Amino acid sequence: MIIADLQIHSRYARACSNNTTLDLLEKYARIKGLDLIGTGDFQHPLWNKEIKEKLKEDDNGIIWSKTKFPFIWQTEISLMYKQDGKGRRIHHLIFSPNKDVADQIIDFLGSKGRLDYDGRPIFGFSSIELVDFMRNISNDIEIIPAHVMTPYFGLYGSKTGFDSLKDCFKDNTKHIHAIESGMSADPPMLWRLKEDINIVSFSDAHSYWPWRLGREATVFDCELKYKDIINSIRTKNKISYTIETVPDYGKYHYDGHRNCNLRLSPEETRKLEGICPKCNQPLTIGVQYRIEELAKEPEGYNKKDPTDYKRLIPLHELISSTYNIKQISSKKVWEIYNKLIAEFGNEFKILLEVPYEDLIKIIQEKLAKVIIMSREDKLKILPGYDGTYGEIILDKEKIIEEGKKQKTLGEF
Ligand SMILES: [Zn+2]
Ligand SMILES: [Zn+2]
Repeated sequence: MIIADLQIHSRYARACSNNTTLDLLEKYARIKGLDLIGTGDFQHPLWNKEIKEKLKEDDNGIIWSKTKFPFIWQTEISLMYKQDGKGRRIHHLIFSPNKDVADQIIDFLGSKGRLDYDGRPIFGFSSIELVDFMRNISNDIEIIPAHVMTPYFGLYGSKTGFDSLKDCFKDNTKHIHAIESGMSADPPMLWRLKEDINIVSFSDAHSYWPWRLGREATVFDCELKYKDIINSIRTKNKISYTIETVPDYGKYHYDGHRNCNLRLSPEETRKLEGICPKCNQPLTIGVQYRIEELAKEPEGYNKKDPTDYKRLIPLHELISSTYNIKQISSKKVWEIYNKLIAEFGNEFKILLEVPYEDLIKIIQEKLAKVIIMSREDKLKILPGYDGTYGEIILDKEKIIEEGKKQKTLGEF
């Protein structure tokens, strides 16, 4: 089994100013329980230099740190262009089979724009052209539309996206094999779109929070070779499952206005005709609304294959909700977190495997119970909206009270 997070950013990606290095990414990948990560931002001149200095490539397109942690060549770019009379902004992940091909990609991107101002640079060509350009370099390059449901920058985004893969890629759709679900959507939501496409999940961790990587991941059952990983993505044969955060937890799951303190379900938004009753401005429409808009099948479609994914909430969130601590990276949260890691090895093991009886030897019962609830996907979450993360609620009274307002919380 290879648990992989293949959407990483370097410290050169916008809004990241810190000292994060490849060493630090490796450190937190190991704590999380990841077995493979992307390099992130491989076209950025300084990051690229660091990758080449610090990592060593083997014959299978895997690049290794000195302490034997594997990476693959990965970047993300932002495309801004006009298509069918509308401005489009779409983010795509790009994977390279080796250093030589990565260098060719860099030469090409460098001919289209600057590469040094942001780890995730912007270009003016279309998604269709991107596929042609990359296929001119190598058929082993893989392009995966990233966080497809986010309003801006997602392929299906309500603001600057498309209604289908075909609308975006036209005849080049056949060269796209997978989409990345992003934190506000999971496979059951995307299955409803009835696109013929595989689904992967990665975290889009920005390196100012290197410990946030692996919130989402894809689990492969293949050999640790670039070709095998990409073949798995292309055929889905050797993808065991994806690890998804609960979509309600994502920052754009529901609709609303953060400043107006208003969280709305798609149904409520429709009743209000998309206008905020407090400030009279258009509401920020979330992912669930957009899914309802594009869905060809009702909720619950394709449930036959539930082994395709697991829904998990990160351990920091579980600890902070259990003890009612606002700041998820506070000292107290880290203390409990580190104690668990020291005992059990890594976070995925704790979230997915360690039995209750063993957990309560180290931590209080109430936290152990919350970890098991997360594992069994039984946590109640107030959906995120307008850039605000969802909120885990453990207090029964509050669940009942909120349940009356928000039907997605369901029966308790
Ligand atoms: Zn992105
Ligand atoms: Zn408002």
